[in-house]
Amino acid sequence: MSKTITLLGSTGSIGTQSLDVCRMHGYSVFGLAAHSRVDKLLEQIQEFHPRYVVVVDPDAFRKLEGELAGQPDAPILMQGPDALRELAAMDGPDVVLNAVVGIAGLDASLATIESGHDLALANKESLVTGGHLVTDAVKRNGVHLLPVDSEHSAIFQCLQDAHSAKTLEKILLTASGGPFFGMTTEELRGKTKADALRHPNWNMGAKITIDSATLMNKGLELIEAAWLFGLPEDKIQIVVQRESIIHSAVQFADHSIIAQLGVPDMRIPIQYALTWPERLPSPVPELDFTALTKLSIATADEETFRCLAACKKAIRKGGLAPCAANGANEAAVAHFLRDEIGFLDIGRLVEGMVDSDSFGGDYTLADVHECDRMARAYVEAHI
Ligand code: NAD
Ligand code: MG
Repeated sequence: MSKTITLLGSTGSIGTQSLDVCRMHGYSVFGLAAHSRVDKLLEQIQEFHPRYVVVVDPDAFRKLEGELAGQPDAPILMQGPDALRELAAMDGPDVVLNAVVGIAGLDASLATIESGHDLALANKESLVTGGHLVTDAVKRNGVHLLPVDSEHSAIFQCLQDAHSAKTLEKILLTASGGPFFGMTTEELRGKTKADALRHPNWNMGAKITIDSATLMNKGLELIEAAWLFGLPEDKIQIVVQRESIIHSAVQFADHSIIAQLGVPDMRIPIQYALTWPERLPSPVPELDFTALTKLSIATADEETFRCLAACKKAIRKGGLAPCAANGANEAAVAHFLRDEIGFLDIGRLVEGMVDSDSFGGDYTLADVHECDRMARAYVEAHI
C-alpha cells in the first residue's frame, strides 16, 4: 500500500535514510522540515515534491526562498519553530516521522499526536523530556506511537504477539558500548571530539554519536523504553553487545527470551515504523549467520560512564529529572563539540544537574521548557 509521510528533520542521518525507504517503496512526501541545510533540502524538494517545507533557521529560510523563486511547482515555504509545529499537525500524511534532534522535537511530537496522526518517533528526547505528556496524548487521541530507535523497534517487534506481550517481565536493552568501551576514567580524560565521533558500528548525527561515546544515549534509551513499554527502570537491563547484531530482547513470564537481530542498518527500524504492521522487502543485506563466529556480551560500566548513572538516578526521581538530565546533556555536548569542555565534563555536568534538585511531581509543557532552560543555565554556570 502506498503511503504519504511528513518528515521532520529530513536533512539528518535518520531523515535521509527515511527518504531512502520512501524512494524504495514509492511513498509520497507531504511535508519536509529541517533546521538549515539548504543544499540538501533543495535536492529533496526536487526529488520528492513536498507540498510544504519548513526551515527553522531564518537565514536558511531566506536562502531557500531565493533559490525557489519563480519555480512554478515550488512547495509552500514556512519558517521557524511555530511552523514546525504547524506542519506536524497538518492533515495530508498517513504518518509523521519525527527525526529532529533534541528537545526541539518535543512540541512537534505533541502537535502530531494531538492532531490525530500516527507518530513514527526517532526523536527520543520527546519521550525523555515530556514522557508523560506524550504517552497521555497518545492514549487520549487513540493514535499509534511507532518507535524508530533500533533497540525500541527491536523490542516492539518482539512484542507483536499480544498474548505474550501481556506477560512481559523484563527488557534486555542492548548497547554497542561506543568507541570508549572498556576504558578507565583516566583513559577517558583526554578524549577529543574527533575520538568520540568515531563510532564502531553506526554512522549517525554528531549529537547522538557523542551520546553513544558517553553512554548518555543508553541512559536516554532506558527512559525512552520505560515510557514506551511501561516497565520500571529495574526491569530494563542494559547489556553491551559489541557487534550491534542483537538489537534488543524481551523476557516473558516463563523466562523465554525473544530477540531481534539484523545487520546494523537504521533503514530496517525506519521502514518497520512506516510499514507496520506489514513488512516489506528491504535493501538492507541479510545477516549471514554462518559468519557470526562471535557475539560478545558484557555489562555497562556505570561507575566510569557517569551519564548512564545520572539517567538512572533521573528516572528513579521521576517528574522533570529526565528533562533536566537531557537539557544539561544537550548544552554540555554543544560545548564539547566546540572543544570548550573535556569529555568527562559532560558526565560531571549531567550528574550535577540531576543531583541538584528533587524534580518531583506532575508537569505541563511550559514546565518542561522551563526545566530545560534551567538545565542549560546550570551548565553555563558550572563549566
Ligand atoms: P542529525 O543531526 O543527523 O539530524 C538532525 C535533523 O534535525 C536535521 O535534519 C536538522 O536539520 C534537524 N534539526 C536540528 N535542530 C532543529 C531544530 N531546532 N528544529 C527543527 N529541526 C532541527 O541527527 P540524527 O542522527 O538523524 O538523529 C535524529 C534523532 O534520531 C535524534 O533524536 C537521535 O537521537 C535519533 N536517533 C538517531 C539514530 C541514528 O542512527 N542517527 C538512531 C536512533 C535514534
Ligand atoms: Mg538506539
